Parts: sequence; structure tokens; C-alpha cells
Amino acid sequence: MQCRKATYSLYPTPKQEAALLGLLRSHQQLYNAALEERIDCWRKTGKSLSYAAQCRSLTVLRRECPEWAEAANCSSQQMTLRRLDKAFAAFFRRVKSGQAPGFPRFKSLARFPGFSFKAHGDGWRFTPGIDWRHGTLKLSGIGQLRARGQARQGGEVRASDVLHRDGRWYLSLTLDIGMPQRERTGDAAMAFDWGVETFLTGVDHAGEVIHMDNPRWWQSEKDYITGLQQVVSRKRNKRSNRRRKAVQRLAAAHGKTARRRLDWAHKETAKLASLFALVATEELHIANMTRSAAGTVDEPGKNVAQKAGLNREILDTAPALFTSLFRQKVLETAGEWVEAPTRQLKPSQRCPACWALAKKSLSDRTHECSRCGHTEPRDMAAARVVLNWALGLHTGQELAETGINARETLSSAPHRLG
Ligand SMILES: [Zn+2]
Repeated sequence: MQCRKATYSLYPTPKQEAALLGLLRSHQQLYNAALEERIDCWRKTGKSLSYAAQCRSLTVLRRECPEWAEAANCSSQQMTLRRLDKAFAAFFRRVKSGQAPGFPRFKSLARFPGFSFKAHGDGWRFTPGIDWRHGTLKLSGIGQLRARGQARQGGEVRASDVLHRDGRWYLSLTLDIGMPQRERTGDAAMAFDWGVETFLTGVDHAGEVIHMDNPRWWQSEKDYITGLQQVVSRKRNKRSNRRRKAVQRLAAAHGKTARRRLDWAHKETAKLASLFALVATEELHIANMTRSAAGTVDEPGKNVAQKAGLNREILDTAPALFTSLFRQKVLETAGEWVEAPTRQLKPSQRCPACWALAKKSLSDRTHECSRCGHTEPRDMAAARVVLNWALGLHTGQELAETGINARETLSSAPHRLG
């Protein structure tokens, strides 16, 4: 089984809109009350309250105050408690890793993102149109809502989130699409690395090189968004109408860019996945990529918001999104996805020909081996190291010298996923 999200816009009538806002408010109040309960419990006992304990409080509350039971569906209220539980889990994770923690906050109605439903049929039902284009959402207590949009692929409806953003309503569906099958025309093996000059550099086992550039529109969209961000930060009065409008323009630009990138990544990864039966890459450490902007508790970063925003945009979302879509599609063609242990293998420091290690700084764009004389552009050399490791194209002697484990066979790989 495999799940995918599909987003639809919702078009409530004015009466439905008022009812939706009432529902949103009841979830917001529940969220804030549960946060208060957690803080109280911590002050009084020094212990943190669990999700299960809060679900028990909810049961009592629903029994003793009927207005809570009438306000919303029980499992949907539990999902709101779960949302708070996740906020706390993320908080504790940040404390542990030494990042600036940011305690979960009380949320105003305007900042409250929405509410969720579990089992399909329990207080809600989505009926898709032909080919999953548009549809209707039936919510108990609210009625039939018109939904516009289209799922990339249909499936069994599992869960949903009703989201409220910038005055608009959205439905995010979780669909179980089973294990889809995808056609593959090639059976080559390839490995790739993230480039500095190019987006991605790959090599295949026949020696072909795959260069993928950033799409031309990336830079102009980045510049456009940076410009809009500056407009927002120049508006000092946080409550002014102009600032609110600028924030809306920025949010719209972010959304448009994100959709365009997702579409691009889907198309490019589909092309690659149709050609290769084995794809190898380094493990991706997302935490390392974002850490630089946020800083740590002891050394908070400067201009965190802007930097984190840009980092997220430029560094993170692109490779992480691309990798996860690529992996998904390789598995759908019954291909093999292999992740190399970066720390032991050190692909960017190693010679793909003789396996010797040689320190390189990030500015060294070429690999030149002092031992065997092999010369190759840096990103290609790194990809070739990963590929050779994935295919086991090195002798035991070379591995013994470097102290890494061979990927034993293609079917019992230690770092195989899926
Ligand atoms: Zn060498």
C-alpha cells in the first residue's frame, strides 16, 4: 500500500462558510485548552501529559459538557489533540538536538490551520467526479460542499484535512493508491550527486554522463520571491492593509513556485526512472542542510526567517523532493534504490579509479588523483564512487584498506530501502 495526497479547493455557500468557521473555532479552542492543560500539568507535577491522557480528558469533557460533543466529531477532535502532540514532539526533538526550541504556541483563529478526519465515512465522505476531477465533500453538520481540483491518481480515500488559509478553504485527501506499476524501457544502473553548477550529475555503468540543469525559471522565481519578501519586511506597520496584501502576494508566489517545482520534479524523475533498473545515491541529511540558518540555542543565527526561507527553497526542497519522488518511481518500476553510507564511503573525497582518499575543499571542482592520475570533474567522480560501490566494482583489497563494507550482493544490500 502506498498513500498520496490530493488537494481540492472547497467552495462553501455563505451559510456553510459560517458553519465551517464555527467548526474551526471549536477545534482552535480545543487545541488551546489542551495546550493549557499540558502547561498546567507540567507546572503542578513536573510531568508531561501524553496524547492518550488528553484523549481520556476529552471523553470526560464530551460526557459532562454536551456542547463539546455537539461541536465536532469525536475522532476529528482526537486528531486535533494529535496535532498538539506532534507540536510537542517536534519541540522536544529540537531541544534535544540543540536547535532553538520554540515552545508550542496558543493559536489565534487566523493562524489555526484546520482540522482533520480519520476513517472515511466517520463524519465525512468525499465523492470524486469522473477521473477524480472535482467532487463533493459531505461534512456532518455542514452539508455538501463543492470541491474543485484533480488527484494525480485515484485510490481508496483514507483520511482528510480541511484547511483554512488566507480566507480560503481546501481539502487535502490522503488516498491509498496501492502499489502502482510503472513501465521501464531500460535496465542500466546509475548513480547521481547534487551539483554546484548543475542541479544533478549522474553517471551510468556504460560511462554515459547525465547532466541536469536547474530549470531556467528557478533563478527568476527566486529573485521574484526575494523581492516580495523585501517588500513585506519594509512594511513596518504589522496591521496595515498594504502589508497584509504584500503578505498575500508572497504566499501566492510561494504556492505557485512550489506547484511548478513539484510538477517539474514529477516529470524529470519519471523520465529517469523509466531508464534505470538500479539507482544509487548518497544518504541525504536534511538536518545538516537547514541547521546553518537557524543556528543553535547557544548561537542563534542572524536573519533566521529570511535565510531559513531561502535555504528551504534553494537547498532543501529541491534535492529532498527530487530524491523522494525519484525513489518512489524507481520502486514503482520494480527497480532497485540504493543509498550509500556517505560518512564511511566519502564519495567526494575518494578516487573512483583506485579508491584512494584525497581531501578536497568545496572549491576544488576537479578530482585529480595523486596516486593513479585519474582526473574527472568533481561531481562526476563522486557519482562514480557511489555507482562503483553499489555495483561492487572494487576489490576486497581496496575495501580492506579503506575499512568500508562492500555492498554484498544486489539483493541483500545493507542500505537498501523499500
Ligand atoms: Zn586514483
